[in-house]
Amino acid sequence: MKTQVAIIGSGPSGLLLGQLLHLQGIDTVILEAKSQAYVLSRIRAGVLEQGFVDLLREAKASERMDAEGHVHDGVEFSFGGRTERIDLKGLSGGKTVMVYGQTEVTRDLMAARAKTGATSIYEATDVQLHDFYSDKPRVTFVKDGKTQQLECDYIAGCDGFHGVSRKSVPKDAIKTFERVYPFGWLGVLSETPPVSDELIYANHERGFALCSQRSANLSRYYIQCPLDTNLDEWTDERFWEELKARLPAETAAALVTGPSIEKSIAPLRSFVAEPMKFGNLFLVGDAAHIVPPTGAKGLNLASSDVYTLYHALRKTYQEGRADLLEKYSEICLRRIWKAERFSWWMTSLLHRFDGDEFSQRMQQAELEYYTQSEAGRRTIAENYVGLPYEAVE
Ligand code: FAD
Repeated sequence: MKTQVAIIGSGPSGLLLGQLLHLQGIDTVILEAKSQAYVLSRIRAGVLEQGFVDLLREAKASERMDAEGHVHDGVEFSFGGRTERIDLKGLSGGKTVMVYGQTEVTRDLMAARAKTGATSIYEATDVQLHDFYSDKPRVTFVKDGKTQQLECDYIAGCDGFHGVSRKSVPKDAIKTFERVYPFGWLGVLSETPPVSDELIYANHERGFALCSQRSANLSRYYIQCPLDTNLDEWTDERFWEELKARLPAETAAALVTGPSIEKSIAPLRSFVAEPMKFGNLFLVGDAAHIVPPTGAKGLNLASSDVYTLYHALRKTYQEGRADLLEKYSEICLRRIWKAERFSWWMTSLLHRFDGDEFSQRMQQAELEYYTQSEAGRRTIAENYVGLPYEAVE
C-alpha cells in the first residue's frame, strides 16, 4: 500500500489534517488503533478558538458546528464571593470562542472523510514506524491478523500522548519538559441546561470548580479533586453538593442537577517535546504536548500544529517549498510555549495548592488585579480566544 502522507491516529489532529490535505489533492491514509465507535465515545474538550473554527470551515466540515455551536463573547471568574466577567469580544478586537464538543467535531470530520472515499484503517494494531530519517518512510501494522505495510513520503504522528510516534524517536534526539500537578479534575456530563450562558471558572477555598457546557441541554461540570479520589465514592448527589458549595450562592441556587451520563477523573499535566520533526516524521497535537485543561487549549493547540503542517506540506507538494517543513518545529513551538504558559498560569491562579497562606493571598491579589485592570482583562481575553497563527512562508 502507498500514500503521500501516512497519518497515525484518528483523533481531531489526524482527521483535520487528512481532510485539509485531501482537499488539496494530497493523498493520505489514516491508521487508528481503536474502533471508530470507541474514538467517538471519548468525552473531551468543548471550547474552540477562532483559528480552529476557521480551519474546520476550510476543511468543509463545519456545517453542523455553524448551525448548532454556541458563540461565546465572554467568560466569568468567581472568587472571594463575587463574579467578574471578561468581555472576550470587546477586549480582543471582536474575537470569540465557539462551544461545540470535541466528540461532535470528530464525528463531523469522520463523516467528511467518509464522503471523500479516502482510506482510514481502524483497529490497526502493532503500528510501527520505520526509516523516517530516509526519503522512503514506511509504517507497518496488523489488521485482521495480517501484517501490512504502508509506504509514504511523510509520516504525521497524530496519535496522542500515549501513541507510538513519539516513542519511536531515538532518545537522544528528543528533549521533554514536564510538570505534573498535585490534583485532578472530577468531571460530570449531564443532560441538563447549563447554569449560565457563559463558562464560570471558580476559585474557592474548597477547591477549583468549572461550569462548562456542550450544548443548550448538555452541561459539563468539573471540581478539583485529590489524585487518589475513588470515583465509586462520588455519587451524583455528592458531586452536585460539592459543586454548589464552590459556586457563588445565586449560581448554586440556579443550578439544574440531573443524573450524570459520564463521570471521570482527569489528571493535570503540562508536557512539551522538542523538536517536533525527526527526518520525515512530524509530531502533531497531544503526541507532542499536553496542557492542563484550565485554559481550554489542548484541542486548540492541536489545531495550530495542523495548520502549520498542512500549509508546509501543501506548499512542498504544490510549490516545491520543502524548506518550510524544516521550520515546522520552531513555528509550532513558539505558539505552544505561550499556550503552555497561559494554561499553567490559569491552573496556578485558580486551584487550591497545599501552599501557605501567603500563596493564597497572592492568588487573591492576582485575581483582583487581572479582573479589575483593563490591561489585565485584555491579557486574559487575548490568550483565551487564542493567539494568532504564524504564517507559514
Ligand atoms: P487524541 O485525541 O488523543 O487522538 C489520538 C488518536 O491516536 C486516538 O484516536 C488514539 O486512539 C490513536 N492512537 C493512539 N496510539 C495509537 C497507535 N499506536 N496506533 C494508531 N493509533 C493510535 N482539551 C481541552 O482543550 N479542554 C478540555 O476540557 C479537555 N479535556 C480533556 C479530557 C481528557 C480526559 C483528555 C485525555 C484530554 C482532554 N483535552 C481537553 C485535551 C484534548 O482532548 C486533546 O488536546 C485533543 O484530543 C488532542 O487531539 P489529538 O488528535 O492530538 O490526540
